[in-house]
Amino acid sequence: MALDLKQGISKQITKLNMKTSTFLEENKIRTYIATLEADIQELKMKAGENGYTMWSAGRFDVGQLELLYQEIALKQRQIQEQEQQMKELIVKNQQVLGQGTPEVPHSPAAPVPPAPAGNVVFCPKCGEACAPTVNFCKKCGNKLR
Ligand SMILES: [Zn+2]
Repeated sequence: MALDLKQGISKQITKLNMKTSTFLEENKIRTYIATLEADIQELKMKAGENGYTMWSAGRFDVGQLELLYQEIALKQRQIQEQEQQMKELIVKNQQVLGQGTPEVPHSPAAPVPPAPAGNVVFCPKCGEACAPTVNFCKKCGNKLR
């Protein structure tokens, strides 16, 4: 049916879109993780600098440093979340593309074995299998012998 064909095609397109979108999504996550890592490096440097500046000025404020540390911890949690999302994405991608566990098709029904030769005589006219004892084809009446 035309509808089945249409559904089949749209399924293929969905698969393709899924593949493309997971690829884009993966890249997005990678870029985001890289950004977060760069932010963390920057924050650590900032914390070190601020700490030294405050210490050398004789007004060391732990609270101010703690804010930076909390920000670093937050970004590290975000990296973990992104990595988790990436794993889920890969699993989802494998399921959609059927790389994980391919569906085994049911084996086709065993073919009907042909009637053993000798027990039948095939009519030369219509091909009907007839008992070797009969003189005429049971289907078309052709003379068998
Ligand atoms: Zn016949």
